[in-house]
Amino acid sequence: MTPPTFSSICVYCGSRFGNDPAFKHAAETVGSLIGHSRRRLVYGAGSIGLMGVVAQSTMAAGGEVIGVIPNHLDDIEITQGGLSELHITEDMHQRKRMMYEQSDAFMLLAGGLGSLDETFEMLTWAQLGLHTKPIIVINTLGYWDKLLDLIRHVTDTGFASPENANLLKVADTPEEAFMMLETDTRIS
Ligand code: AMP
Repeated sequence: MTPPTFSSICVYCGSRFGNDPAFKHAAETVGSLIGHSRRRLVYGAGSIGLMGVVAQSTMAAGGEVIGVIPNHLDDIEITQGGLSELHITEDMHQRKRMMYEQSDAFMLLAGGLGSLDETFEMLTWAQLGLHTKPIIVINTLGYWDKLLDLIRHVTDTGFASPENANLLKVADTPEEAFMMLETDTRIS
């Protein structure tokens, strides 16, 4: 069988659930799509919030899950059991680098400051030409509209080129995000 396009998907998402069940539902759908499409999930190894939901849903759909967590977060983010691989790193920088190296594409679900930090690191590395891996924002309930407005403001004001801003792809739903990977019109 041919392996799927972009076979390792890194998902950035909240260590909390947010205040609408739609966020959890989107996380479940992403996990299930990863598992059913025979891809593997790369993520921050936590069992809490949307992070735990994506991992558990991927495993429930028969997918592999690679978790990467720094030593000092083991107690706080409560490392998920049953992962296919668990990597313990010395610090956050190592964690983020390993997640980057293990992945072919990145998806952002709803999340907080940590998710923003991780996504922006991948976006700015792409802007510098350090990689060409797709980065897709899954904009559940328009949660990231304000972020997308901010990026538009940055380009409109002349501090980034529209080409660089376009490195961030936007999908309304998990299904649309996976369709973007399948059709890969940029995107590669
Ligand atoms: P959050 O979106 O804030 O709930 O965090 C989601 C994940 O991002 C957690 O696993 C955090 O440990 C991780 N994360 C990555 N970089 C950072 C950072 N600079 N500050 C806080 N959390 C971070």
